[in-house]
Amino acid sequence: MSKVIIIGAGGVASVAAYKCVENSEVFQEVCIASRTLSKAQTLVDKLSGRGVKLSARQVDADQVDQLVELFTQEKPDLVMNLALPYQDLTIMDACLAYGVDYLDTANYEPPETAKFEYKWQWAYRDKFKEAGLTAILGSGFDPGVTQVFSAYALKHHFDSIRTIDILDCNGGDHGYPFATNFNPEINIREVSANGRYWEKGEWIETKPLEVKRTYDFKEVGQKDMYLLYHEEEESLIQNIPGLERIRFFMTFGESYLTHLQCLKNVGMTSIVPIDFEGQQIIPLQFLKAVLPDPASLGPRTVGKTNIGVIFEGEKAGQLQRYYLYNICDHQEAYQETGAQAVSYTTGVPAMIGAAMVLQGHWKKPGVHNLEELNPDPFMAALNQFGLPWQEDFDPVMVP
Ligand code: NDP
Repeated sequence: MSKVIIIGAGGVASVAAYKCVENSEVFQEVCIASRTLSKAQTLVDKLSGRGVKLSARQVDADQVDQLVELFTQEKPDLVMNLALPYQDLTIMDACLAYGVDYLDTANYEPPETAKFEYKWQWAYRDKFKEAGLTAILGSGFDPGVTQVFSAYALKHHFDSIRTIDILDCNGGDHGYPFATNFNPEINIREVSANGRYWEKGEWIETKPLEVKRTYDFKEVGQKDMYLLYHEEEESLIQNIPGLERIRFFMTFGESYLTHLQCLKNVGMTSIVPIDFEGQQIIPLQFLKAVLPDPASLGPRTVGKTNIGVIFEGEKAGQLQRYYLYNICDHQEAYQETGAQAVSYTTGVPAMIGAAMVLQGHWKKPGVHNLEELNPDPFMAALNQFGLPWQEDFDPVMVP
């Protein structure tokens, strides 16, 4: 008999809430708390009448005291942070102050610097351990499922893994010349940052979108993909012993890249505040305000995502290659939950991660990345809750 608070009421939160209601054996009560009460209430109205007790609350998750008050009144068994990465630390502080388990889908990023790394959240390890509380970091698809895939590959198919390539392909088309599939501010900060990959013990930095490869994705087709730095690389190099190289690639269409370049050239992607008619504004935040809301892309987006991980290493002295991936259809995700596949592939693992803790599989005091935990029950739940995985023992490798 568990109760969760979901913080945030955007695309990812709406899928996670939907899936919690579907998994009513684990989730008996769900409170959706967000900055804008009406959005939380809309979600509650949409999902009510399906056997799970729902409520909506207003909270500013930047304020620890507001969060602690909310937790004290609602008495959750776990808090799912599906707001933005800026709120990770305040929500973790509030979880410690009240005494409740924590889960998120993206690592902390200070608003004023487009730099994400785990050091801020890993600094909470002792505090959570001493309090007997569990914090699960990055339970989306990437980060998230990609790390569960890594733990599963190592447990069942390899003695040692030498290389990991994470391939994130979105073959969806929303019909707009330019729009982002999740929060535009977070998305553009990630894509316009320098790329980085890890090889033979050191990080190699590349210019934004400098490294390009082409890959033929099952059920999507041939796509250009670009090397980015992604947060799960930082934890995987620590937790997969003997790893020699890890890279992360994401596909982008030509229209997206041309628009992004143009917006960058004119300064619209900057996060440095400027003075506009006597008011300080951040160009990227203004851009977010004029771009389509990712939550509105659901009905328009057709096509599929194909996200997975290719491993190379050894099993019983033999070279072993293995590709684990999931294909998700935007329209099927929309018909089921009202959100497109990028929100779907994040919201489903968020619900599963929460269920893992509440059911005791992942109840382990401390702060954990997903590859540190038993992958088997999570892998089974992916098949059960809409993200079935496929495997290929002879994949085409990325040069
Ligand atoms: P949205 O922008 O759609 O939703 C964010 C929600 O958080 C909104 O409801 C927003 O409220 C709310 N929020 C923002 N600030 C606060 C605050 N201070 N207090 C309370 N609520 C707040 O984002 P998404 O749903 O697309 O993404 C959610 C998270 O998922 C992000 O952290 C994103 O980085 C992560 N993500 C992870 C992925 C993965 O694979 N691991 C992939 C995609 C996303 P309001 O409506 O008022 O603005």
